Order: sequence, then C-alpha cells, then structure tokens
Amino acid sequence: MSFLAHPAEDPPPHPGAGTGPRKGRPSATAASSPSTTSSPSAPSTPSTVTHLLTNTSTDRYERHVTDGVGRVAARLARTERPFTGVTPAQLAPAVSGIDLDEPLGDTAAALDELERVYLRDAVYFHHPRYLAHLNCPVVIPAVVAEAVLSAVNSSLDTWDQSAGGTLIERRLIDWTARRIGLGRAADGVFTSGGTQSNLHALLLARDEACRMEQKNAATPLRKPEILPRLRILTSECSHFSIAKSATVLGLGEDAVVSVPCDEDRRMRTDALARELTRCRTAGLVPMAVVATAGTTDFGSIDPLPGIADLCERHGIWLHVDAAYGCGLLVSRRRHLLDGIERADSVTVDYHKSFFQPVSSSAVLVRDRTAMRHATYHADYLNPARSAEDRIPNQVDKSLQTTRRFDALKLWMTLRVMGADAVGELFDAVVDRTAAAWELLDADPRFEVVTRPRLSTLVFRWLPPDGTPAVLGDRANLHAREALSASGEGVVAATVVDGRHYLKFTLLNPQTSLSDITAVLELLAEHAGQYVYGRHAG
Ligand SMILES: *Cc1c(COP(=O)(O)O)cnc(C)c1O
Repeated sequence: MSFLAHPAEDPPPHPGAGTGPRKGRPSATAASSPSTTSSPSAPSTPSTVTHLLTNTSTDRYERHVTDGVGRVAARLARTERPFTGVTPAQLAPAVSGIDLDEPLGDTAAALDELERVYLRDAVYFHHPRYLAHLNCPVVIPAVVAEAVLSAVNSSLDTWDQSAGGTLIERRLIDWTARRIGLGRAADGVFTSGGTQSNLHALLLARDEACRMEQKNAATPLRKPEILPRLRILTSECSHFSIAKSATVLGLGEDAVVSVPCDEDRRMRTDALARELTRCRTAGLVPMAVVATAGTTDFGSIDPLPGIADLCERHGIWLHVDAAYGCGLLVSRRRHLLDGIERADSVTVDYHKSFFQPVSSSAVLVRDRTAMRHATYHADYLNPARSAEDRIPNQVDKSLQTTRRFDALKLWMTLRVMGADAVGELFDAVVDRTAAAWELLDADPRFEVVTRPRLSTLVFRWLPPDGTPAVLGDRANLHAREALSASGEGVVAATVVDGRHYLKFTLLNPQTSLSDITAVLELLAEHAGQYVYGRHAG
C-alpha cells in the first residue's frame, strides 16, 4: 500500500517530497528528522526525481510506457502507406520550431507532439509496400525484450554490470557459432551492426597477420612497417564497410583488392586465385579474404567452399560477411551457406534476416584466442586479475565499453517463437522474391539483373528503343522518387555497370505478389510519363 497518493502527472509540490516516504523510514515532510531542520544546506532531492525509474515510480513507468505503446499501436493500425512522402523541407520546420529549453513536463503532451514531428511521417517497415532497404518488420517477442532491456538498463561490458545478461549473451554466441559450425573453440560478441562486426573481424585478422609476419621475419619488424603491405581481398559486390574498415585500421589506400564477380554477382574463385598469387609475387601480405554471403544489392552468395580452399592453401584468414544471409542459418535453405563453417570469422546481422529491432548483430570467430587482440584492461573496470579469476567480462572481447543488452531480443525470440519460426519467415520472403522474379522476367517493360538467391531484385524499366541511355536512367530515378512522394510504395535504387537500376528488398512475409504487381505498375506509369510526357496514352 502506498503512503502517499501524489498526483499522477504533476511533480510534487516541494523539493524533497518527490520520492515519497518509504516503509520503515520516517517521512522527511513530517520533519521528524533533526537533520532536515538543523542544516539548511543539506542536499535536497529535486522534484524532478519523479521522472527517474525507481522503486517508487513503477506506477508512473507502467502508465507512461503503456501510453507510448498505445500511440504506436494506434499509429501502426491505421498506417495505410509505408511513407507519407514528406520532404525534408516540409518536415524540418516542425522539428526546428520546437524549443528544447521549454519542456512540456508531461509525457502525454510530448507524445502528442511526437505524432506531428515523427510518427505521422515516419517510414514504416511493417507495411507490405515498403520494399527498399534491408529493414525488416520486427517480431513482437523482441520488442518486448527491447522494453525490458532499456528499463533494466544492464550494460554488457562487465559481469558486475549485467550478471545474467552476460551469460545470456554468451549462450546466444555459442548458439550462433554452433549453427554456423565453427567448432568448440569458437567465440564472439554482440555488436551494433554489420559495419562494426566487419571492422572487428578485420582488426583480428590484421593483428593475426602482423603477428605471423613478425614471427617469420629474419630481422625485427615493427607493425607500422607491415601495415602498408597488408591487403584485403573481397568481391566488387561486397559491402562498403570493408573499405571503410581498411581505412580505420590504418591500412594503405590500396589495401582493398577488388575481385571480379561472375554474372550472378558471385566472387570468381579463379580471379581470387590470380589476385592472391599476384599479391604474394609483389611482396604484399593478403591479411584476409572477405566473402559475402548475401550481397546487399543482389543477395548473391560467394562460392564459400572454393574460397575456403584457397584461403586454406595460402594460410589466409577467411571472413564471411553474412550480415544479410545469416537468416539462412535457421531456414530450410541452410545448404546455401555450405562452407561458412570453414570461416575464421563471421558477421551476422540479426536486425536484418532474423526480424530483430535495430541494433542486433554479432561477430563470431573460430578460435577464441584471436579475441585477445581487442583486450585492454582498466583497473577500474576489468582488471587483469578478473580474467584470472574467470569473471566473464565481455568488454575484454568488444570494441565498445558500455554496451546494450541487445542479445535479450534474440533470446526472447528463440524462447517464444523458436528458430524454425524465424526461418519460416525468411523462407517466405525468399519464396516470394523468386515468384516476383518470374513476374518481372516475363514483363517486357522491365529487365532484371540476376535471378535472386535471397530476397532482393535489381531491375530497371526499359525505355523504348532509341531512347538516349541518360533519359532511361532519369526515368528510372524519377519513377522511384515519384513513387516515394506518393507514399504508395518505397523502393531502393542502385547503379549496375554505370546504369541506374531500381531495387526491391523483400523482408516482409506479408508483402504479396499483388503488392509487387501494383508497385511495378506504378513504377512503369511514372517512368513512362517521364519519357512520353503527361499526355501520352
Ligand atoms: C547491411 C550490411 C552490412 C552493414 O551492416 P549494418 O548493420 O548496416 O552496419 C554489411 N555487410 C552486408 C553484406 C550488409 O548487407
């Protein structure tokens, strides 16, 4: 029973009264404690303390979060389009017009305001006609977990800030490593996304390569002398975070060697073999081959077994970027990832094909001792002796320090739905994409680049014969923009061999073939209007 029924929304009238009296302790407002009266300079509790989530504010917490959840639920229920088509110029005044030094003091009022500045015009990934980037609708167990993890607010850097959170994360790393088949010495850590996972994996690969170079050198060799000679080999279709990582890791400007792809946009192993030999002959050090299991544009999967053979023969670190393709680990198409078990490191993005909210990703390694390259000790946080005492401090393996308990989302997902259910969702979008390819391939108005393995389709509207190529490009760009402005659908764009293409990324199992047909009709109409003018039939 509560001693004090303070008003629901309003801060309490006096500083110091905010927390209310507690059981077993005299009330400060009853002035029974001499210290509150005798010392005018005694620190007082600000009235704003009611905004803190504490044992005395749980009612308020529940009410306000429920209010927020209710607004989102209502908004999602009545969203008829993935986007309103609002432009930055239209929306900017609503955001910039808000005086951040004038708080509303009230959650309901702030949520009302949020409708106007965010919720009304947000881009909604749950909508079946959102077909643009690798954003997924999210599963409810993970959203529940998100609410739990931000309220408890564990930080996964050390055991003493997370306890069970650390153990849960470790279980999920082991679970993922086992699905990949990395073996008993595997390890890894959750990260903020595929970009960070790739950077992390390449840092380990770089330091392993440096260690080997130093070991094999006739005369002592310093790391800065090695860095300019290091090379990362990856396909021309790999993710740009590989090139970004090379820069962050202090490698030379030419550190990334781009390996050509076949017509299905998969790395050519003969070309890889040639580049490896060329590197060696030139006195360079290939520090890693990065294979992509699910390229961002085409969903193509590099030939992992052939690449693994080459890496083995040359003694080179194999990193598999499965940021997108990781959903196959739980799908009936698991065989498409055959060979991934031979990787030295793997990137997975649960926030793509596992239907998890951003952020949720992990980097996995075959040999846990490699993780030491990211280990630093701080006396105040994770002293070396805690490793000796076998206290599990995840910061020893992470590039981050304070770190979200993102793993809880996957945990709840597996505990509520199970892995097969996640795989079924991913299989459904892959099936749908295959059917959509049939439609597109049979439609003379469009040209598709490759037959999809996963859930993307890269295609373009074909201008009539004799149309200048530039005009065809512009028509495709225009079609995408006009569609987005109408809010009837959202699609992506990319460039293939210098020409502008459109792109569908399907991650919503509720996107039907009729949604796809409808969006294609709209795209053809917008593109046609651009080329023929508004009056053409
Ligand atoms: C999305 C993606 C990344 C980057 O992952 P983020 O989570 O966006 O940082 C890396 N590689 C591939 C193949 C991707 O599709």
